[in-house]
Amino acid sequence: MTSLGEPRWRGGQLLSGLLRQRWTRWDQFSNLSRSLRARLETEVDLAWPTIVQSQPSLDGSTKHVFALRDGRQIEGVHMPYEDRVTLCLSSQVGCAMGCTFCATGSMGILRNLQAGEILGQVLTLMAALGPERGHELTLVFMGMGEPLHNLDHLHRAIRLLCHPAGLGLGKGRITVSTSGLVSGIERLSKLEPRPLLALSLNATTDEARGRTMPVNRVWNLARLRRALDDWGLKQGERFCFEYVLLGGENDTEADAERLTAWLGDLRRAHNLNLIPMNEHAASAFRQPGEARVQQFAEWLKVRGCFVTVRRSRGRDVQGACGQLVKGS
Ligand code: SAH
Ligand code: SF4
Repeated sequence: MTSLGEPRWRGGQLLSGLLRQRWTRWDQFSNLSRSLRARLETEVDLAWPTIVQSQPSLDGSTKHVFALRDGRQIEGVHMPYEDRVTLCLSSQVGCAMGCTFCATGSMGILRNLQAGEILGQVLTLMAALGPERGHELTLVFMGMGEPLHNLDHLHRAIRLLCHPAGLGLGKGRITVSTSGLVSGIERLSKLEPRPLLALSLNATTDEARGRTMPVNRVWNLARLRRALDDWGLKQGERFCFEYVLLGGENDTEADAERLTAWLGDLRRAHNLNLIPMNEHAASAFRQPGEARVQQFAEWLKVRGCFVTVRRSRGRDVQGACGQLVKGS
C-alpha cells in the first residue's frame, strides 16, 4: 500500500478483507475507494488456486490437486483430527533436491510458489472443508517442494498468516520441514515469526545420506547438527525429525546407534517420526516388514529417543509423504 502512495494502515484493511472476510473480488472491498480498487484490479489478481481434483481417503484425510494461474498443478492434504485440522502444504512445483526415495524429487523443480499461492492453498482448503477459524488450524510444509529453497515467499506467507489482522495463527502451529538446507535453516532461525522446524534425516552416515539425499554432499551430518545447535531452541521447544524407513538401507541397529549419537543432547528435545517408505513407481526402495519397523522403533526407544511410527495418512490415494507428484 505504501508503494502505491497509500497509508500503511490500508495494508491492515486489505489483509483483513483477504484473510478474515475471505473476499475474492476487488468489488467486495467497499472500504477502499473506487479509484484504488480500479488500480488494484489491473495489478493484482485475487483469484485463489482452484481445486481441480479431490480424493478422499478412508482415514478421513483428503488429497487435493490445485491448479495455479499458469496451469501448473500442486497438491495439498487436508487432515481433520478431532476439533483441529492439519493442512499439509506445498511450497514449490516439484523439488530440486533430488532425494532418491521421493516421488516429488523425481520430477525436478518447475518453479517456486508465490506467497499468495501458498496463502491461497490455505484459504481454498478452509473454504472447501473447514475449519471456519484460523485458530483450529495446524500447518505443515511437508507437501511438494523444499520450503527453505523458497524462503522469501514462504516467510512472507507465514507473516501474513500469523498477523493479527490476518488469520492470527500462532507460530507454534506452523512446522517447516527441510531436507537439511543449512543456509536456509540459518536464515530462518533469525526470522520472526519463527515457525517450528522439522528435519528429514533419513540416514545416519554421510555416505548413505549423500547417496539418497544429494543435499548432504554440500552440508553433511556434522554441519547440519551444528546448524541445529545454532538455531537456539527456546525452553519447551523441540525439533521434529523425520526418518523414512527404507528396507535394507537405513534400518539396522547400527543406524539406531548412530542416530542417537548424532542427536546427542537433543535427545531431551525432539520427536522422531519413523515413516515406513511409501512405495511408488519412481523409486526402487521398499518399506521394511512390520516386525523390522517395530524393532527399529524399539532400538531407538531403549536409547532414549521419543519415537512415533507415523502411518502416513492418505496412503490409499497416493497423498502420503513423498508420493506427491503433479506438475505441468
Ligand atoms: N522437502 C521437505 C518437505 C517435503 S517432504 C523435506 O524433505 O523435509 C515431506 C517428508 O516426506 C520428508 O520428511 C521426506 O523425507 C518424506 N518422504 C519423501 N519421500 C517419501 C516416501 N517415499 N515415503 C515416505 N516418506 C517420504
Ligand atoms: Fe524434495 Fe523433500 Fe522430496 Fe527431498 S524429500 S526431494 S527435499 S520434497
